[in-house]
Amino acid sequence: MDAHDSLLELIGNTPLVRLRAPGGGDGAPVYAKLEYLSAGGSVKDRIGLRMIEEAERSGALRPGGTVVEATSGNTGAGLAMVAAAKGYRAVVVLPDKSSAEKIATLRAYGAEVVVRPGGLPQHDPEHVVNVAERIAAGTPGGWFAGQYGNPANPEAHYLTTGPEIWRQTDGRVTHLVSCVGTGGTISGTGRFLKESSGGRVRVIGADPTASVYSGGDGRPYFVEAAGRFRHPETAEDVWPDSYHQEVVDQLLPVPDREALHTIRRLAREEGLLVGGSSGTAVAAALRVAAGLGPQELVVVILPDSGRQYLSKYFNDEWMLQHGFLDGDPAAPRVGDAVPAAERERPLPYLHHRATVAQALAALRERAAAGAAPVLPAGPAPVAPGRQPTVPELAGTATLDRLAAAAPADPLADHLDPPLPRLGTGRDAAAALAELEDSGAPLAVVVHDGHGVALIGPDGLRTLLAPNAGNAPGSSGR
Ligand code: PMP
Repeated sequence: MDAHDSLLELIGNTPLVRLRAPGGGDGAPVYAKLEYLSAGGSVKDRIGLRMIEEAERSGALRPGGTVVEATSGNTGAGLAMVAAAKGYRAVVVLPDKSSAEKIATLRAYGAEVVVRPGGLPQHDPEHVVNVAERIAAGTPGGWFAGQYGNPANPEAHYLTTGPEIWRQTDGRVTHLVSCVGTGGTISGTGRFLKESSGGRVRVIGADPTASVYSGGDGRPYFVEAAGRFRHPETAEDVWPDSYHQEVVDQLLPVPDREALHTIRRLAREEGLLVGGSSGTAVAAALRVAAGLGPQELVVVILPDSGRQYLSKYFNDEWMLQHGFLDGDPAAPRVGDAVPAAERERPLPYLHHRATVAQALAALRERAAAGAAPVLPAGPAPVAPGRQPTVPELAGTATLDRLAAAAPADPLADHLDPPLPRLGTGRDAAAALAELEDSGAPLAVVVHDGHGVALIGPDGLRTLLAPNAGNAPGSSGR
């Protein structure tokens, strides 16, 4: 029979497909390794299997045991799938911003899901990794997988992903491009390819622009599961053992906008429906290939499917709301009310560690509509000239509410919900209606995922007046 005894035999061994349109020109061909065709739908199946098998070999995981991991994404699904196929219990600890689809996937595999607040510094006892370690230690037969510190993570790629690429390209691969999350993929695959080619293969990390791996400030970004975020209150950022920097020859920063537009193009023009980090990787691979000749050969790793991100990156509404789409230039758009020069000026944000008195003084001095967005504080505030990303907007300080509070109180105790957000590409008339409905005095104008300005209903009415014939204020309720 042409059949398999176990699903576990269907992990890895993913196909390599040539991208049709690597940006035109005479560059090198680019071949994409489609990890979404692995049994569990991502590159992380490989480490789920390898980490569990190593734990079985070492005796850390025994029959009837419980696999515990902290992860918001594919590693949880890979581990939960392998645990189900092998008869282990699985517990996955997730940050609260995880999508409903990801939580549902884990539950579907029979895993228990523990949700904890996200966005905490590494040393916080409630950080998901610390919670998972405690659960593993307190559970009889519990084993913490720990992908960031587990040598079986890069090893899985040294033993499978690397040899597959070498065999599939007949040893002709000259460049490997991969995202860097835990670093397991690039470290293991890269090391194998370098060893097999006598050091000829160049290894390039594709990194979200804000990620600390490629020198960014570590503030939040939108491509999930790639790069390294740094919480502003993480004093010393220790990079994971699973990332072997010496294997990586170069790191290329890729902006969120470029990554997201790349996957939308891949889906429409090549029929490849892949996730955001695949966009980061392909965007970098196209840049690399453009500088090479046709005798060279680029392999890029596409870690997962776009189906997990249909409600975000492939949803025009989400893209517009976050300022990643430019909208219809025939009608006034929110961005038209914010001149380019104004987008460069820092938003008048406050830090949530300020006192009520400090916040009031700042609000009276500079916030025209009596409200300002509030960011989490920390030793690494937004760099000069850099606007905060939208996930950082923790709440809103308003004059009315603060005037009634005790001056020495922390501002964090007196916050209103975050201001509404309007992407620069949004139709201005629709945005005005939405802002009026919300009752908020101001909205944050969002471009490429960053808050770049504040705007009130009057700002939008002024923009619309010559077109719609509205006098300022006439469309107010
Ligand atoms: N992209 C996606 C979608 C992932 O799930 C991961 C794994 N976290 C990565 C990229 C990065 O891979 P690695 O952890 O091996 O560096």
